[in-house]
Amino acid sequence: MKIKVNKTGRRCKCGYLYSGKVAVGCRKFASYAVVSDRSYQRFLKAEFDVLQAANVGVKLRAIARASKLIGSLLECPDCGRFLLAMPGGSSKTFYLIEDAA
Ligand SMILES: [Zn+2]
Repeated sequence: MKIKVNKTGRRCKCGYLYSGKVAVGCRKFASYAVVSDRSYQRFLKAEFDVLQAANVGVKLRAIARASKLIGSLLECPDCGRFLLAMPGGSSKTFYLIEDAA
């Protein structure tokens, strides 16, 4: 399987807009959480801290720590491209699966 890579924003190259609110008539997109293997233990600890927080302030700080360690993989329902948003917002890259040779 060959993969083409392009860099751009939160709109798919085909024009589909990835948004938390899906407009009427638009298909909903699939979304997956992405966590680096190197950060996984810290991510689990932060998520555990969220669940165990004694007050709102502690909970919000734990959510902030966890959110820096998580990215997303979004699948465009229109063209099938994937948008990989790396944890911490460091980069966004499109991947397109090409036809098998
Ligand atoms: Zn697309």
